[in-house]
Amino acid sequence: MKKEPLLETVEHHAVGLSGTAKEYNPFLIAQRQLDEAAEIMGLDPAVHHLLRWPMRELHVTMPVRMDDGTVKIFHGFRVQYNDARGPTKGGIRYHPEETIDTVRALAAWMTWKTAVMDLPLGGGKGGIVCNPKEMSRGELERLSRAYIRAVGRILGEEMDVPAPDVYTDAQIMAWMMDEYSIMRGYNVPGVITGKPLPLGGSKGRNDATARGGMYCIREAAKVLGIDTQGATAAIQGYGNAGQFAHILGQELLGLKVVAVSDSKGGIYNPDGLDPKEVIAHKDKTGSVVNFPGAKNITNAELLELPVTVLIPAAMENQITEANAGNIKARIVAELANGPTTPEADRILYANGVYVIPDFLCNAGGVTVSYFEQVQNAYDYYWDLETVHERLDKKMTAAFHAVHQTAQEYKIHNRMGAYIVAVSRVAEACRLRGWV
Ligand code: GLU
Repeated sequence: MKKEPLLETVEHHAVGLSGTAKEYNPFLIAQRQLDEAAEIMGLDPAVHHLLRWPMRELHVTMPVRMDDGTVKIFHGFRVQYNDARGPTKGGIRYHPEETIDTVRALAAWMTWKTAVMDLPLGGGKGGIVCNPKEMSRGELERLSRAYIRAVGRILGEEMDVPAPDVYTDAQIMAWMMDEYSIMRGYNVPGVITGKPLPLGGSKGRNDATARGGMYCIREAAKVLGIDTQGATAAIQGYGNAGQFAHILGQELLGLKVVAVSDSKGGIYNPDGLDPKEVIAHKDKTGSVVNFPGAKNITNAELLELPVTVLIPAAMENQITEANAGNIKARIVAELANGPTTPEADRILYANGVYVIPDFLCNAGGVTVSYFEQVQNAYDYYWDLETVHERLDKKMTAAFHAVHQTAQEYKIHNRMGAYIVAVSRVAEACRLRGWV
């Protein structure tokens, strides 16, 4: 928040429909992270200013017929943050507390995510203010189709390609792809990724976010000299990323997962938790809480457990200056977007906690989404081994680029990741003649 032309604060533009506490406004955090990187890199002021803001955004209001016959009005957003390196790419979230600023932050992080992975893509994000837990599948289908009718004019394989995110899944992607294809008058599988396999989805997309994170943990353990076999782990969040992290952490790295949680609370068993049993319990009861043989704990307690690997896989702002000093993990592997605030980053770094930052650690999802786009364009589909092999190569290369940069500049990994990503986006802006 310095240098006059950059002083414009988000408040001038904030038109979110529900308030976000200013200190934890994710977009202000995203801008602060960029400011810090810009300072370290000596980034050109015009590029810096450009990269502080989304290039384009669309706000939409959608009437949807509910099952009881009434019409409910929903609000949604699509933010195209920066497309210097290629079409914008990023998921769509359904969340009751969605705000334009959260979507802007996530779109900025997608820009850094595709750049750190060296994918020929920009960054974008979408969101709808809704509570999917209180909606029927029919209502969700009508809302998803309404959203595509509202934002479809700015989507397309060469413009902006959405994907799943918090509370959206492959079925929702299928409805959206179908609605977009109806609008265009022919089949357009490449407009969206994370589709079901029979509609042009990619093998390996469903567990890609967690798998990419496991490859990063494997590399981090190597540079830190930690043996992951039998090492303990705790996972906050038990959606797609959290559940697959539990399965793959055990399968690929031999991690002993001793605690997991969801929005209702957590469970802890020092002898380890079996993923299949915990998933079955959650499917049956709606939560991991009250899992037989485990002790119920809070989400806050889970974060402070004495484990080797902590995996935040839920929402933003979980590790703050209030609890960062109590984190005992050696490695924090961020499968969630934005779980750690800048103040917490400084505390963790000073305490020697090795953070694998979100837009590197969870980039497996968008990387296999990119593979899905390539397969859709060629209409030729890869086997699972090919997907895994190419994902591993991409994740490993990105991990070491970030690790090396952080070591060179003597800064924490998030700043290392920013420097790698922002340099690439800035170069594309310059080459295009924008700045
Ligand atoms: N929503 C995921 C993310 O935050 C995936 C995005 C994509 O596949 O485009 O990275």
